[in-house]
Amino acid sequence: EKAMAIATVNPATGETLRTYEAHGPDEVERRIAAAHEAFRHWRTTPFAERARLLRAAATLLDEDTEDIARTMTLEMGKPLTAARAEAGKCAKTMRWYARHAAELLADEHPAESDVRDSGADRARVHYRPLGPVLAVMPWNFPLWQVIRFAAPALMAGNTGLLKHASNVPRTALYLGDLFRRAGYPDGCFQTLLIGSAEVEGVLRDPRVAAATLTGSEPAGRAVASVAGDVVKKTVLELGGSDPYIVMPSADIVRAVKTAVTARVQNNGQSCIAAKRFIVHEDVYEDFTERFTAAMNALTVGDPLDESTDVGPLATEKGRADLEELVDDAVRKGARVLCGGARPDAPALAGGWYYRPTVLAGITPAMRIHQEETFGPVATVYPVRDAEEAVTVANDSPFGLSSNVWTRRDEDVDFFVRDLQAGGVFVNGMTASHPALPFGGIKRSGYGRELSGHGIKEFCNATTVWQR
Ligand code: NAP
Repeated sequence: EKAMAIATVNPATGETLRTYEAHGPDEVERRIAAAHEAFRHWRTTPFAERARLLRAAATLLDEDTEDIARTMTLEMGKPLTAARAEAGKCAKTMRWYARHAAELLADEHPAESDVRDSGADRARVHYRPLGPVLAVMPWNFPLWQVIRFAAPALMAGNTGLLKHASNVPRTALYLGDLFRRAGYPDGCFQTLLIGSAEVEGVLRDPRVAAATLTGSEPAGRAVASVAGDVVKKTVLELGGSDPYIVMPSADIVRAVKTAVTARVQNNGQSCIAAKRFIVHEDVYEDFTERFTAAMNALTVGDPLDESTDVGPLATEKGRADLEELVDDAVRKGARVLCGGARPDAPALAGGWYYRPTVLAGITPAMRIHQEETFGPVATVYPVRDAEEAVTVANDSPFGLSSNVWTRRDEDVDFFVRDLQAGGVFVNGMTASHPALPFGGIKRSGYGRELSGHGIKEFCNATTVWQR
């Protein structure tokens, strides 16, 4: 497969705004060496100093919000309002880790009786950083995915090397620059402008300690295989096809409103978007009618326009993949309740737009039943009861998050016990928060980001036993 050029291409028009020269082997070597060298001192820099620098970066990000939001929108097509919100969430998360990292990584003390039982006078668990961590990141939340790795990793005393998606080089360069401008020592956080073929060499370099990847399953598999070969720790955040279960006791009006947002956020290109709407038969007709009407009423248009709900897909291939999934389902008998095509408006003809779509009559023979729809396409499934809802929900290779709408506590207990997912969001949509762990099971990957779980992923939990 031919490597993608590193370039900014506006998804709203298809116009190439700028192509970038990839870093050559010498530049990559220089940056790995700098990450390694920086770690020698950064690893023992006091938390207070790390926090000061992270807060300085957050302040710069706040000041840059308008510029970086426009950059993201031009590079990958998310509505400008969503891009601004993404920048704000990043700054908030940086401040959260600046404030909490020291307590999250404080020494742990086992019970006194266990310490004696181990034969020690004193014992504790001490968290130390691992070293330079390679972060392979996707374009869909081009700031957030990186910050959610960088903020905890830097606070823990690791250094970072970012290999961003090839279609968001401006955002990638901005991020490297942000930490430099904030005053971080050289080499603490750097961007590598490289294609995916160069990732293996970086990961095999003995100076690189670990890797984190957010992206597709094939990319995750490739990176984890190499990491396995050289026995390096990885965290994988891959795709998802989250269920959104609606039970008869649900507040249907709110469930519908949230369902639309949960499906079309980021033009439908979110790993934690609700993708499969699994609805109890008692409310199926009511929910599906309202949901279809609301999806059909969304404004598809230029993402720089503040009134736009749904912008273009980020890449031409992304739209082609989505169209294939829909066409396959329709060929096998799925019913198109709305959308199912590109918009007609001539003004949108140059961009990679796709209409918000709802499909019913889904069967296991359809690819869409198993595969992730990375765009504004929803499937609806009627179910008889909670058991069948769980069976349908779990009939997926993915297990990222899940959503349940009900007012009955028994339902909540049942779904929390049986849904195969890294999260269960009740009467709301899945959203990440710095204090809550984020990640999945099954083909959605392993490991967790955010919270204390996230910051410890790239730490060496060191047993200190002393007599
Ligand atoms: P992708 O191809 O997996 O790209 C993600 C990152 O991995 C990019 O930096 C990419 O670099 C790199 N990469 C790709 N193949 C690689 C390989 N063999 N070895 C090393 N690095 C590799 O994802 P995408 O094409 O942008 O998005 C498509 C799919 O990814 C979606 O349908 C969805 O399933 C998944 N996705 C999930 C999330 C999430 O948050 N869980 C986010 C985005 C995408 P290049 O750009 O240079 O190829």
